[in-house]
Amino acid sequence: LARDQQQPEVNIGLVGHVDHGKTTLVQALSGSWTDQHSEEMKRGISIRLGYADATFRRCPGVEEPDCYTVEETCPDGSESEVVRTVSFVDAPGHETLMATMLSGASIMDGAVLVVSATEDVPQPQTEEHLMALDIIGIENVVVAQNKVDLVDREQAQRSYEQIKEFVSGTVAEDAPIVPISAQQEVNIDYLMGAIEEEIPTPERDPEADPRLHVARSFDINRPGTTWEGLTGGVIGGSLVSGHLEVGDELEVRPGREVEEGGQSEWQPIHTDVRSIQAGGEDVDRAVPGGLLGVGTGLDPSLTKGDALAGQIAGIPGTLPPTWESFTMDVDLLERVVGADEGETVDPISTGEPLMMTIGTATTVGAVTSAREGECEVSLKRPVCAPVGAQIAMNRRVGTRWRLIGIGTLKE
Ligand code: GDP
Ligand code: MG
Repeated sequence: LARDQQQPEVNIGLVGHVDHGKTTLVQALSGSWTDQHSEEMKRGISIRLGYADATFRRCPGVEEPDCYTVEETCPDGSESEVVRTVSFVDAPGHETLMATMLSGASIMDGAVLVVSATEDVPQPQTEEHLMALDIIGIENVVVAQNKVDLVDREQAQRSYEQIKEFVSGTVAEDAPIVPISAQQEVNIDYLMGAIEEEIPTPERDPEADPRLHVARSFDINRPGTTWEGLTGGVIGGSLVSGHLEVGDELEVRPGREVEEGGQSEWQPIHTDVRSIQAGGEDVDRAVPGGLLGVGTGLDPSLTKGDALAGQIAGIPGTLPPTWESFTMDVDLLERVVGADEGETVDPISTGEPLMMTIGTATTVGAVTSAREGECEVSLKRPVCAPVGAQIAMNRRVGTRWRLIGIGTLKE
């Protein structure tokens, strides 16, 4: 493996209000990301959350944080050393995509909250996203105060004070606030230094059972491919524990719906790992971090059109149970996230529909019974999840699904 093509080892979410500069920042941090992205598109492994890998480097003999760079060549002409490769998950800023943001959050090891210095703090999704980080418990946060090239000193100071006040009492309370210009590439080295400090690569147990959270699935064959020429179905997702190797046997749950004697039932799917793509490379073995594309021996009709999105893959016999209904402990928010000032959350009532995000799965269910601090739901599509899994609960408010609380899956 070339040193600069190593697999990403940590997933960092980029969150914040639309137009505050998330995509521009990813570009500044990973000049090659569009190339990698188009390569992924070709292979059919891109994701609705934009993943972009960036290799952090340092210039030898230079002090922190000035040493950090994404360039292979340092200003003095020497060659930079690889620190690590980071995978950024560029969450969409649009408010209706909160569920997507939350499903991305289930695989984030930390987050960079991008806040524009040109507007008052907080803007609606700045607040919504920080609240989501808070609820999900993503504690390793760096605040990028962006677009400082557009403001004068006073405005920069005012924005800083507003950010300070806004993050107080949240997971980002002690987060470093780094003034940058993503577009002019100012202070990007300082931001990299803060990320290195605040968002370390988590320690992972290499012996843990592999769990691949499937975000997408594909049939990569061209129409009309003959039977002999067919490539097996591809699943794309994030490994949250263990490691995966070419040749491993694989079980996917909940699997597929099978009709038998007028009854329908969900059955796990069994296959094996034929190939793995990680960090834009074909590899024999993958560890958590970034997005993987896993070639399987599955009939491609089973993986077509994201059919397996939201499912979990792992070694047969090790996966969590499949639930068609479950009980959860419910922790409701005081206010509806992103809604007008003061809109409080009413208790959950029997019969109401909820949209729930569990891992990478998003499923709609009907509440079959509701008590204080607890409710039971019956799902339209079953999910595979361990007891104790966190569930983002959304209720229809007006024309939109709004986050109203967090559930914890109970037996
Ligand atoms: P996103 O919606 O958060 O992904 O925001 P974008 O990255 O798409 O940026 C929105 C707009 O702001 C684009 O026109 C960018 O060129 C511009 N922009 C982003 N960062 C900066 C910055 O640091 N300075 C200036 N002047 N413009 C910026
Ligand atoms: Mg963007």
